[in-house]
Amino acid sequence: MMNTAPDPYPIGTPGTPWGDEERAEWLSQQSRQRSYESEVLSVIERLKSDFDVEEYGCLDYGSDRYPLMAIRSRDWHDDLPVVLITGGVHGYETSGVHGALQFVEQHAADYAERVNLLVAPCVSPWAYERIHRWNANAVDPNRSFHENSPAGESAALMRLVEPIRDRALLHMDLHETTDTDETEFRPALAARDGKPFEPGDIPDG
Ligand SMILES: [Zn+2]
Repeated sequence: MMNTAPDPYPIGTPGTPWGDEERAEWLSQQSRQRSYESEVLSVIERLKSDFDVEEYGCLDYGSDRYPLMAIRSRDWHDDLPVVLITGGVHGYETSGVHGALQFVEQHAADYAERVNLLVAPCVSPWAYERIHRWNANAVDPNRSFHENSPAGESAALMRLVEPIRDRALLHMDLHETTDTDETEFRPALAARDGKPFEPGDIPDG
């Protein structure tokens, strides 16, 4: 019978969590594959004619600097409920980033005077550019929404939403499952944490 155990992930020692050396090796293998500026910031720029746009934080990864942008209803009324939409918490989940932007462009006007919209379309731009799940420190922003967050992406978003937490009627956080979850991201997670990889487990967004 064939041995169907997957090959070990190419970085690190199976069963041993990564240290700084393994994280640096992982980082050295990531490359920029698309442009946050031309695919995301340019669309947000266009939306400024009809929406309020704000920079709610900024990420510095070496020489790469990423402004974190949010879009708000221009006719914001404090007595209306807030609908929060976030995309790109996992940068490689492209549909959420562009889905959030398209929703603002094509449908946000339908909700004017009914709710306040707050949209953060690309929470993790470094990962958007590298089509990855983690940030540059090999940290998953979606597991980092807590105090003293190790992810700047998550800390900035928590600061943005703090004032509306009591008035948010709905939060849509846009994710998707990709084929690469099984071939790259789940094996990488198991390797990073020194755990065995079990193919076919249900992906977790
Ligand atoms: Zn996700």
